[in-house]
Amino acid sequence: MLPICREKQRQLSQQYQQQTLAHAILLQGITGSGTEALAQWLIELLICQAPLSSNDAVTGEVINLACGQCKACLLRKSKSYPDHLLLTSENKTLGVDDIRRGNAFLEKTAHLGVVKTILIPQAQIMTVAASNALLKTLEEPSANSYIVLITDDLDSLLPTIISRCAIYTIRPMVGEALLAQLKTSLHENTQVRNDSAMNSGINANAFVNLSQLAELTDEDVFQAFQHFNQCFLAYLNHGKSESDLLNQLVDNIHALRWLEKITCNLVRQYYLVKDPEQTNLVVNKEISIQMLNQIYQAIISSNKLIKSFTQANRQYVGAQLLMTINDIVRPST
Ligand SMILES: [Zn+2]
Repeated sequence: MLPICREKQRQLSQQYQQQTLAHAILLQGITGSGTEALAQWLIELLICQAPLSSNDAVTGEVINLACGQCKACLLRKSKSYPDHLLLTSENKTLGVDDIRRGNAFLEKTAHLGVVKTILIPQAQIMTVAASNALLKTLEEPSANSYIVLITDDLDSLLPTIISRCAIYTIRPMVGEALLAQLKTSLHENTQVRNDSAMNSGINANAFVNLSQLAELTDEDVFQAFQHFNQCFLAYLNHGKSESDLLNQLVDNIHALRWLEKITCNLVRQYYLVKDPEQTNLVVNKEISIQMLNQIYQAIISSNKLIKSFTQANRQYVGAQLLMTINDIVRPST
């Protein structure tokens, strides 16, 4: 389990123990954030007939785990467990027939277990018809059934679906939590990933697997990312490139995610550069870690707004965000 998922794992464990788990559970996080592993753990736990308890190494709180040895666990391992259904699609969308298959599955009595589980790993590819078909099931859940949905793009889901799920969001860490995480992971994790385009040569554990992101696979997008990175640093450090930056925020679908990613990496830099004078930082010394954390929060707030808005409103939210960032780093001007 990735460290950034552990808090949600503890939370879900507690709800499992108290039997307060929601029937529909939506795990949200960008690709590589560990939502799949979290879903897998949860479903294994729900299926298991003799679950174990262990204490979390960090907080001492109880985490529940599947035993791996009971009849249900053994059948699951051999992929012949009858009361779980995985709803995926080879196509770009998950259609209404797939969801109906899921609904029919839930209506039947469990063969072996007490509960029935469905996993939808890419909830955002459901068509509108599929979403509506699922909605009825979410509104009137059959007894002892759990539907676990995963998405990397919450905004692509119908609000009616979202409103009927318990949502667990996995985010990269910032601030003190990030520092603590870095200290732990630098020791325990031997697999060092290097997102060199971002970090200017700093080796660190990436919190997310970035290999699937467009800027790392498409040369044109990579060039656009480099340009955006330069503009943002010029804006942070000197207040330059504002209109260029704003145009990119409005026109480039990746730009807001890049802003979040660059800022998150700047925060990481602060903790990774072992230089008391901080001379290796790509941002000015006047820009403190507190400022970067504030900027990161502002970006996250804008992120949700800007995605759902039209072109004109994106312009407005983008401009507001840049003003906010400017006020954070240059409060006197
Ligand atoms: Zn078991």
